[in-house]
Amino acid sequence: MDCLFCKIIAGEIPSAKVYENDKVYAFRDISPEAPTHVLIVPKEHIASANDLTAENASVVSDIFLAAKEIAALEGIAEGGYRIVNNCGEDGGQTVKHLHFHMLGGRSLAWPPG
Ligand code: AMP
Ligand code: ZN
Repeated sequence: MDCLFCKIIAGEIPSAKVYENDKVYAFRDISPEAPTHVLIVPKEHIASANDLTAENASVVSDIFLAAKEIAALEGIAEGGYRIVNNCGEDGGQTVKHLHFHMLGGRSLAWPPG
């Protein structure tokens, strides 16, 4: 499958890994928008939040449990952080493999543009 994040998970394209378990892979965004900017993805290819089903949706809780561990590893658990999923064209999704941005290490503006 011609999917950038599947290739990163498979090790075919290099990434700066910060966390991995049997369901979840996390790595640094190549174009960081905050001191901590980590992408947290399911190892299973799911194209977007629109493609979650009753059968595969448990990976979302796996991702949020991983996020909690990553926040501690990154030293941002106390200060706080934001987890964002962009879905589809209007949502700004550019890579069609479900991913959650974890942003932290600075005060973040709200609302987003
Ligand atoms: P989105 O726009 O929500 O689909 O997010 C895709 C993210 O993937 C962007 O923040 C990109 O900077 C990031 N990205 C693209 N290619 C790579 C790569 N090879 N390694 C790490 N992050 C990447
Ligand atoms: Zn994929």
